[in-house]
Amino acid sequence: MKTLMKFYLQEYENFDEILPASLQSNEEPEVENIKEFPNEAYADTWRRNKEDAKQLLGYLPILSAKNEKEKKSSEFKELARETFHNSIKFLLDPLFQGDGVDFNIDDKDIWFFPRISTIICDWPEACTFSLTYKSANSNYPCHFCLVQREDLIDIRKEVILRNHVNMKEYFDSNTSNLAVLEQVNNYFWSIPNLNIYAATVPDRMHHLDLDLFKYQIEFTMELLKKKKSLNKVNKRIADIPRHSQLKVFKKGIQLSRLTASEYRDMMKIMVFVVDDLQIEDLSEVYVKWNEMYLLSRSEKFKESDLKNFQKAINDWGDLFIKLFQNISNSYLKFLKLHSWIYHIVDTIREYGAINGYTTETYESLHKTYVKIPYRLSNKKEVEKQIMENINKKQ
Ligand SMILES: [Zn+2]
Repeated sequence: MKTLMKFYLQEYENFDEILPASLQSNEEPEVENIKEFPNEAYADTWRRNKEDAKQLLGYLPILSAKNEKEKKSSEFKELARETFHNSIKFLLDPLFQGDGVDFNIDDKDIWFFPRISTIICDWPEACTFSLTYKSANSNYPCHFCLVQREDLIDIRKEVILRNHVNMKEYFDSNTSNLAVLEQVNNYFWSIPNLNIYAATVPDRMHHLDLDLFKYQIEFTMELLKKKKSLNKVNKRIADIPRHSQLKVFKKGIQLSRLTASEYRDMMKIMVFVVDDLQIEDLSEVYVKWNEMYLLSRSEKFKESDLKNFQKAINDWGDLFIKLFQNISNSYLKFLKLHSWIYHIVDTIREYGAINGYTTETYESLHKTYVKIPYRLSNKKEVEKQIMENINKKQ
């Protein structure tokens, strides 16, 4: 089992709604208040994700600010980050103390040594773990490397990768801000064999279907409007005959709240509907997208496959940037484009295929073990009721 432990982390920043009233109503963000919240109230749950996977479910305390001003202050933000890392320490330290852990599996005692291999999460959570600033407008906005914001789409530039050694130097000399890091001790520096700046693995569905492809569709619409071809394309889409397993978009390209599966249906048709419009490279960018997308779904990569994948990414990236750079308000300076081009192949090399990584399982755990029990409770002594409810289920 390569991954002995995968992290449960689900939108911990949006936990406000599930916080006990005793914490929600706090006016002072006093550290003492945290004690009222039962860190120890984590449930050990046996639940199938993949074969013998095991989930350690933890509830994390969230500080509440007395007002908006305080919430936005740098002191408060730093305290919130520190609280997160202290809570994670509280939850995980027992795993790393002593000489490993004995587990009884199928009536046999099996000794194992726990390690954290990957953390599946989206960009804001990755910033929480790596303690980089959350703003995409900071000078070095990438949690993997020290690329300058100005160079985000310069896709052949050398970058310096972040690691424990170079980042801790900034912390030790009290100059974390120079590397766009919070001046907070990072708990993960103490975990063996883990580079927290690289171990956060993007969820493929969010990264590709709902992010990069969504941008590609939006920019395409802008381009079509400029070239007065949008109506033509929408008519072509509306004319596509019904076919099982293919959603029909009778109103043409729509941007409002498409699901990942609807975006995948668009991938199947876009190459054809933007063909032959006298817009250079437009249908080519969709061809390149599809080539890259198919490779991203591979279950296994040999070194030669990774080279082909990187080439497919670069070929798509070059065209995407050429076509849409002037349409994007930020000149395409967005992080997921950079991290996809620069870091995804290394991530696969280190941690394996990305196809299996999805936060969906964890999202459903969050619903079953946090949201629903909270709703079922009478909102008083919530944590106790949540635990009782979960125990009943087991
Ligand atoms: Zn980077």
